[in-house]
Amino acid sequence: MQGVTLVDHPLIQHKLTIMRNKDTSTKQFRELLNEIGMLICYEITRELPTALVEIETPLAKTMAPKIEGKKLVFAPILRAGIAFLDGMMNLVPSARVAFIGLYRAHKTLKSVEYYFKAPEDIADRLVIVMDPMLATGNSAVAAVDMLKDRGVSRLRLMCLLAAPEGLEKFTKAHPDVHVWTAAIDSHLNDHGYIVPGLGDAGDRMFGTK
Ligand code: URA
Repeated sequence: MQGVTLVDHPLIQHKLTIMRNKDTSTKQFRELLNEIGMLICYEITRELPTALVEIETPLAKTMAPKIEGKKLVFAPILRAGIAFLDGMMNLVPSARVAFIGLYRAHKTLKSVEYYFKAPEDIADRLVIVMDPMLATGNSAVAAVDMLKDRGVSRLRLMCLLAAPEGLEKFTKAHPDVHVWTAAIDSHLNDHGYIVPGLGDAGDRMFGTK
């Protein structure tokens, strides 16, 4: 699919299968989401530009590559998006964080904004939006709308699972924003859940059901 990268590394697929299992504990679910977050982040950042800088090793002066430009921004959509955050911050400790509060209105499945807190110069930075479950696509579309309204032009979307309906909606609304996902599942059910999916990611992470 145009604009979508399926991250099908065996380690990620193995961990995802454990997450899908309804008997997996809250603790293990959270740990796995963190680990997968780190692994997908590794893929998303593969093409970041580097520039040579002069350093001195114990043996000689040399030119060696460092990541160029301003620090990245990780933008988790609350609440499930924050499960990716620890693993990603371990990989890129200098990244900045923008929190995006959106909830799904149960009747309409539309996204409602309730919180936004981001670095002041976010418009100058590359922003990775994190939403583990790309279901209807409404939240991801709304989050990217919010960021574009604030001047952000370099964006990527990271998810764990996507429904074909959500991917279609998102790539139509934001064809300039590439998507990384570990799986594309069969369909959405009448309640907007991904099938076979893994259930409600937020509830499984925090034990709220
Ligand atoms: N959000 C979830 O947590 N799970 C789904 O299947 C869909 C949206």
